[in-house]
Amino acid sequence: MSAITNHLPTAELQALDAAHHMHPFTTNDELAEKGARIITRADGIYLTDSEGNEILDAMAGLWCVNIGYGRDEIAEVAARQMRELPYYNTFFMTSHVPVIALAKKISELAPGDLNHVFFAGSGSEANDTNIRMVRHYWAEKGKPNKSVIISRHNAYHGSSVGSGSLGGMSGMHAQGGLPIPDIHHIEQPHWWAEGGDMDPEEFGVQRAKELEKAILELGEDRVAAFIAEPVQGAGGVIVPPASYWPEIQRICDNYEILLIADEVICGFGRTGNWFGSETMGIRPDIMTIAKGLSSGYAPIGGSVVSDEIASVIGGSEFNHGYTYSGHPVAAAVALENLRILEEENVITQVRDVTGPYLKEQWESLVDHPLVGEAKIVGMMGSIALVPNKNSRAPFSEAGTAGFICRERCFANNLVMRHVGDRMIISPPLVITTEEIDVLISRARLALDECYAELQ
Ligand code: PLP
Repeated sequence: MSAITNHLPTAELQALDAAHHMHPFTTNDELAEKGARIITRADGIYLTDSEGNEILDAMAGLWCVNIGYGRDEIAEVAARQMRELPYYNTFFMTSHVPVIALAKKISELAPGDLNHVFFAGSGSEANDTNIRMVRHYWAEKGKPNKSVIISRHNAYHGSSVGSGSLGGMSGMHAQGGLPIPDIHHIEQPHWWAEGGDMDPEEFGVQRAKELEKAILELGEDRVAAFIAEPVQGAGGVIVPPASYWPEIQRICDNYEILLIADEVICGFGRTGNWFGSETMGIRPDIMTIAKGLSSGYAPIGGSVVSDEIASVIGGSEFNHGYTYSGHPVAAAVALENLRILEEENVITQVRDVTGPYLKEQWESLVDHPLVGEAKIVGMMGSIALVPNKNSRAPFSEAGTAGFICRERCFANNLVMRHVGDRMIISPPLVITTEEIDVLISRARLALDECYAELQ
């Protein structure tokens, strides 16, 4: 058999892929029938597929390629690190220079007294760490019954048994025996879908108070932590009403509940600040990080924790860790990515220039007959597709319009994702105003075609 390279015909690559490769979040039988889209190269904000199409990636991969594709500096740093020290672990009293430098850098960037990093290979692993760490923390403080972690329906915190349990995706809970014990879910602050007749701000407070209600029902002495994404990503880029987070912060402070901000998407500039917690004005005790930490160039994640937590759990051995915790190549790549974000002022550009420009353009989509609302924070946005612009009522067959719209996006060389009938974007942070114009014009075209198909 000939070698498997970019030069093989697409159909042949697709057949091999379907025969041997099981894809995440995919109906693999359907994949075998239709064939995967095969991406062969990427540069800046554009992907190239095996048919030679140049596709604008308005999702930055899976919300992660913050600095854009094709940065040689990262490739060079990775190659250098592989030659010098390709691997060593951080178990049993050992360390190495890239992980020391990265932990120090993250501590400098992180808000408040979040000065300590426990590394993982992904966001899921980092959230698994968080489950064990907060329970261990309270046990060390003499409160072993404080083990319940409160999360939200329609949250996404990863796909492992622990992080999938923290998440509130019913489709995931339906498979594999999730959630694990002592994870409790409250309702989400999704005004568009669930706000009824309430004013958004009033609704925000009401949904935050669900946390208080849950704490009182479960017992303050049972609740260890509350975890949430500053802005829900995979749930559909749901921007909470401004009233939501201040009330959540008040409740966490009042009842001595640790606040875990899952910054896997929001972190490293996506909301126009280094962390979504800053944009939302919250003071987490722990932040989960991954994705933008390395811009997806290497798999790495972590838990950034406060001085207090580090000091409490530092007194005895924390029986936890991953072979790739603080992997030297991933750490070196992440450090170079942070250098690029900082030295090229990528985040200030998002905050002051490209973010406001994208907001204006994105919000202009509400004039389209299919679009009910447009929401955006920094470089993460969503639009709600609706059958009738004068109402927030959904389509009778949820997800069909979103699916058609996503397919029309692909046909117009644009990657947008759909969550039900919400279309979402999360482009590379380096997208320029000219490229934003291309994104918006392709999105409009896809919306027009979707609208025509639905008539
Ligand atoms: N947390 C959030 C908020 C995420 O969006 C994701 C992934 O999309 C994760 C955690 C899981 O990260 P990973 O896929 O790296 O395990």
